[in-house]
Amino acid sequence: MALRVAIIGAGFGGLCMAIQLERAGIRSYTVFEKADDLGGTWRDNSYPGAGCDIPSHLYSYSFEKYSSWTRRYPEQPEILGYLTHCADKYDVRRKIRFGSEVRRAAFDGTTWHLTTAGRDTPETFDVVVMSVGQLNQPRLPDIPGMTEFAGVSFHSARWNHEHDLTGRRVAVIGNGSSAAQFIPRVAERAAHLDVFQRTPNWVIPKPDATFGPLARLAFHFVPGLQRAYREWIYRYAEGTLYPALARGWSSGLLEKRALGHLREQVPDAELRAKLTPDYPPGCKRVVIDSSFYPALTRPNVDVVTDKIARITAAGVETTEGLRAADTIVYATGFKTTEFLTPIEVTGLGGRSLQEQWRDGAEAYLGISVVNFPNLFLLYGPNTNLGHNSIVFMIECQVNHIMACLPHLSRTGPMEVRPEVMAAWRGRLDAAMERMVWGNGCQSWYKTASGRVTNNWPGPTTLYRRLTSRPPLPAYRSVTSQ
Ligand code: NAP
Repeated sequence: MALRVAIIGAGFGGLCMAIQLERAGIRSYTVFEKADDLGGTWRDNSYPGAGCDIPSHLYSYSFEKYSSWTRRYPEQPEILGYLTHCADKYDVRRKIRFGSEVRRAAFDGTTWHLTTAGRDTPETFDVVVMSVGQLNQPRLPDIPGMTEFAGVSFHSARWNHEHDLTGRRVAVIGNGSSAAQFIPRVAERAAHLDVFQRTPNWVIPKPDATFGPLARLAFHFVPGLQRAYREWIYRYAEGTLYPALARGWSSGLLEKRALGHLREQVPDAELRAKLTPDYPPGCKRVVIDSSFYPALTRPNVDVVTDKIARITAAGVETTEGLRAADTIVYATGFKTTEFLTPIEVTGLGGRSLQEQWRDGAEAYLGISVVNFPNLFLLYGPNTNLGHNSIVFMIECQVNHIMACLPHLSRTGPMEVRPEVMAAWRGRLDAAMERMVWGNGCQSWYKTASGRVTNNWPGPTTLYRRLTSRPPLPAYRSVTSQ
């Protein structure tokens, strides 16, 4: 019997998995998607100015050449358009069950049983591929008085498009990559904008450009052009940005570039001082944006660094007094270290995944977890990047899973060997030592206790090599134990 595969999530990862199954002639799969549309994070994050700071031709599948990109750095509607194009071209939409939220995944020793919201009877699958992302659960801060606010408030990933910001007094809490993208758009409309900054970020320019009709024709018709361009961007990111994160030759250059950018764009010394980080660049995600700083210099914008004490009906109260607001946007990020939550996952012997991960999530190659046979993760623990395309990583993971499937058909369920996982953990820990994320800052890359659970500490070329090795030696059959 053909393997029954459940894919959870229809974003970049889930769609890639579905497409590769289709291409391999495997049709016995179902994609569960909790929302009413595909796109994952690119469906959820529709705030003004939302886009990607990885160039379009790299932030896309290697197998799907696309000549319609209108910009070097894609904006959210174009990315969503690309994903829709891929889903339709490879005819995977028919396999997506929209409005179907998986609540529970339980392994009974042989098969997986998935329970979805509003359905009492679980459905049975041989293989489960979790592709829910790392940035899918918005995180609201825990500030006293939030429910007392009399105005309109929302999280950046749940943008309230009905609420016109023209002429408003807006408070934005947070200044990460999301805030940096929408602040310039909000500043143009608001009467006044307070940006509440807890920690300044390193910011480097985004050299955006448009692709006119001629460039698009060239990308379409000139043989090899798109591939060569993609390869060039990839190598540039790998060759210059990765060493900066690994405290290598380019870390000084990154700092110099960011400080130069700050000097060029922020003439006021007092504001510059507020915006200058005191930790190494790359420790937190570097913001890549050319319009963020100019927005902060507008007369209707204040960067507020006073500590937030509470939210009141009238606005945000800091240690220095009330900053009146009629709108609060929480650009406070995501629950990034709580991988897979709120899905309740149980494996061999009824073991809870959340319990197994209580000191931090971990998975072999970021894909497979001891005690959880035939469960695979896309964009799982330690596979996030601060310098290159996540889509590249997802494709590596899908290749690994595709290579596992024939073995699972033959031998039944397989789990990653505990000794392989232990060696993997040791290797990750050693590699993590040289990376910039460990000390000097708090970030969404790590748990409260300081363990980096989200980022991949090596070059992506190494990750590709590791994930393309024959998988079998790393796994063992669970039925033969
Ligand atoms: P984020 O980077 O986690 O930023 C959250 C912000 O909220 C930080 O400035 C944080 O301050 C602040 N914050 C959180 N709790 C707070 C509190 N209680 N009081 C005051 N401030 C608080 O979230 P994000 O901006 O949504 O970005 C998340 C990730 O999404 C990015 O790092 C990036 O990987 C991805 N992203 C990518 C793009 C792209 O172009 N590719 C665009 C948008 C997002 P602290 O720094 O002090 O913690």
